[in-house]
Amino acid sequence: MSLTSTMAGCFVTVVTLAARGTAASAQNPLRDHTEGVEIRFARTQPVVGYTLRVDAGELSGFDVELRLRNVPDTFRLAMVAHPEYDDRNWRFVEALRVQTPHGAATVTREDSALWRVVAPGGEALVRYRMRLPAPESPRAAWRPFLAPTGGLVGGPHAFLYVVGATLGSSHVTLELPPEWQIATGLEPTLDPHTFFAPTVGVLVDSPLLVGRLRSWRFAVDGVPHRVVYWPLPDAAPFDTVALVGNIERLSRQAVALFGRAPYRDYSFLLEDGAYGALEHRSSVTLGAPSADLARDPTGLLMEIAHEYFHTWNLMRIHPAEYGDVSYRPPPRARGLWWSEGLTMLYADLLLRRAGLPVSDSTRAAHLEGLIGRYLASPGNSRFSPESVSVVAYGAAPGALGDYSASTHLQGELLGTMLDLIVRDATNGARSIDDVMRAMLERFSGARGFTGRDVERTVADVCACNVHTFFEAHVRGAKPIDFYHYLRLIGMRTHVSWTPALGRDGQPTPDLRLYAWQPPAERALSLVITNPAGAWGRAGLHTGDRLAALNGVAVATVADFRSIVTRLRIGDTTTVDVARPTGAWRTAVVVAGYDRPVVRLEESPDATERQRGLRAQWAAGSPR
Ligand SMILES: [Zn+2]
Repeated sequence: MSLTSTMAGCFVTVVTLAARGTAASAQNPLRDHTEGVEIRFARTQPVVGYTLRVDAGELSGFDVELRLRNVPDTFRLAMVAHPEYDDRNWRFVEALRVQTPHGAATVTREDSALWRVVAPGGEALVRYRMRLPAPESPRAAWRPFLAPTGGLVGGPHAFLYVVGATLGSSHVTLELPPEWQIATGLEPTLDPHTFFAPTVGVLVDSPLLVGRLRSWRFAVDGVPHRVVYWPLPDAAPFDTVALVGNIERLSRQAVALFGRAPYRDYSFLLEDGAYGALEHRSSVTLGAPSADLARDPTGLLMEIAHEYFHTWNLMRIHPAEYGDVSYRPPPRARGLWWSEGLTMLYADLLLRRAGLPVSDSTRAAHLEGLIGRYLASPGNSRFSPESVSVVAYGAAPGALGDYSASTHLQGELLGTMLDLIVRDATNGARSIDDVMRAMLERFSGARGFTGRDVERTVADVCACNVHTFFEAHVRGAKPIDFYHYLRLIGMRTHVSWTPALGRDGQPTPDLRLYAWQPPAERALSLVITNPAGAWGRAGLHTGDRLAALNGVAVATVADFRSIVTRLRIGDTTTVDVARPTGAWRTAVVVAGYDRPVVRLEESPDATERQRGLRAQWAAGSPR
């Protein structure tokens, strides 16, 4: 698809080339390679240098200059797609123009994220401006932004790359307002404003936090780590010594688990006024509001632990679907239950090993909470973890029909059950730690893992057969039999269903009715997460277009939630929806609902051996 018409402000003549251009590109000597298996300095690779310029007087975006030498006469430039958080950053590329020593080159937009450049002579100077997305409050920590005292630039949202030359290196020079500092996972050079990216993969995976920054350092086994904080001008003061000390203790546990750090150095890039986070190979961007840290300097540790653990489990141990960088979003990964779920498990476990605060007092209490959430939402046991993985990112809300399920939750529970299986089969000699280390050895290179690979790795570690487990609970949608697996450590579950209570201790109404705004549609679309809830029983379905709530049209999701959250038990509300079959109305009597309360208790017939395994597991010890 050609999107040339959207290129407002383009300075060069845009023409659509005929089939001749396609033939030329087929002979392009630069081919896509997978990182780590190809010579990095091929004779045919282009020589690439970037300059990223921030003008303090114009913070609506930044300018990028890309100097290319040794390029074919026809080459393609592309904007990378992130496998999970694809913000379609190609939307923000403006005023793309290319010069050669002989004059302007010809640029054709071949697809949304792909430009073809015809620039005879082997040299080209590419210039463009990256407009920043509309400001949001709070801001997502991984999105680019600029403020008078700093911002986030670079990474996946700044650099066009030459297609087919992703193993080529590049230098990045920053031109910033005076006194702005730079923190990034890119490699430093002798010039404090110039950095080195050995591959395009590293280039687009290393955002730059710039501005007036605070920074602290520590070393783990001699490997440098730093915590960088970008404060808002009115930042609340918080205990920075505690924050940095806690992050250091956490880092020690992760490095100890794997025996070494897999990076040259590591940067925790924390941003005031932001939420959420995105993991990278040697850094993480993470929202860390100073007001939250002032209230509780340990409150963000679970999220920090999760993102940091992704440095191993996701960035190195990666699903087979994630290959080299590409402008095309990769296929959805079936193994996200492992990448997210085991990362949830280890965020909790590493904090415990480090003696840092966690939300549940014991591992058993933590597991009770997980099982309770699993049982509370029937989608968790209705859809296989592999199929939930596929819709975890990027799918429209309601991809599971009238159900919802969490790949994080399913995965953490599967990881916990596999841990018990391994401990039982090896008589306590091995644990999920050994599986994780084996996964790193096998699947942190060019080749990622499939579900069969996880199965084989677990089986090799425990020298036992887990085929039935994977067939039933990973590829299949058989509910996890907690009773069966907990018995391996002499425990059993006790589940009772009692009315869900609010903060006031009174029964709370079933408000599990959600809405979202599909792009290019006016009406809100409803989402049901449990067909047995009050709204599902009233006949509503995910995908119903909302015409009116209590007889009134609702324009926004925020308006919708504010109406729904005001409902009380006993209220009757009418819901009008527009379906392909016609208008439909239902009256819903708002009711309370039951939720499961899970208690783990020792089996009366637990053996000495089982009690020993349980003590090991409960202590969170490696074995
Ligand atoms: Zn995650």
